[in-house]
Amino acid sequence: MVERASGCLSAAAAAEIMTRLKHLYPKAKSGLNYTTPFELLVATILSAQCTDERVNKVTAQLFAKADTPEAVLALGREELEYIIRECGLFRSKARYIMEACQMLLAEFEGEVPADFESLMRLPGVGRKTASVILSNAFGIPAMPVDTHVFRVSNRLGLARGKTPREVEEGLKELLPREEWNQAHHLLIRHGRQICKARNPRCQVCPLEDLCISALAQQNE
Ligand code: SF4
Repeated sequence: MVERASGCLSAAAAAEIMTRLKHLYPKAKSGLNYTTPFELLVATILSAQCTDERVNKVTAQLFAKADTPEAVLALGREELEYIIRECGLFRSKARYIMEACQMLLAEFEGEVPADFESLMRLPGVGRKTASVILSNAFGIPAMPVDTHVFRVSNRLGLARGKTPREVEEGLKELLPREEWNQAHHLLIRHGRQICKARNPRCQVCPLEDLCISALAQQNE
């Protein structure tokens, strides 16, 4: 039984999908370069509407000059804007980073907090970013839903929803907690390489026999 009454895949089908994705992308991990939770926080804020490659290029320069909240504040807003100018939306990103640094120093002794509610209070940090930091920097199970996870989950039928929050809840319900962090990376890789936004490559997709969208198309 592949499908549940909700129109989503069964836990057994989801497990099989995860097994196949692990074989397909054995090295799936974050595409952002960082060495501390603070660096990941800054890189993740910069990654909105920007490629990981570009963020990594920019953060290599930024972290060589400033890799702590104190050091970033000491740079000043103008210098920060100049360094991150290639990331897009750089003025608002610079403002978020400066304000987040101020809050880290004022309320968290300069450390990035390891709990969801505190992370969500930081300027520029929404549900997805807080989840990325929890899972990647601290190894705490979380399910960040970006555009790839949202699209691939809906197409496959792992979790169906109109909002990232609905998909996040669906994935958390379906997948074992210890799989959440890896599932996030696997679904991103699959979305980038095969289940692309405009032209999903279903002919070469090893999940086609389990994918609710592909099965629906075959039955049309
Ligand atoms: S079969 Fe097609 S729609 Fe389904 S996951 Fe694969 S590429 Fe995406």
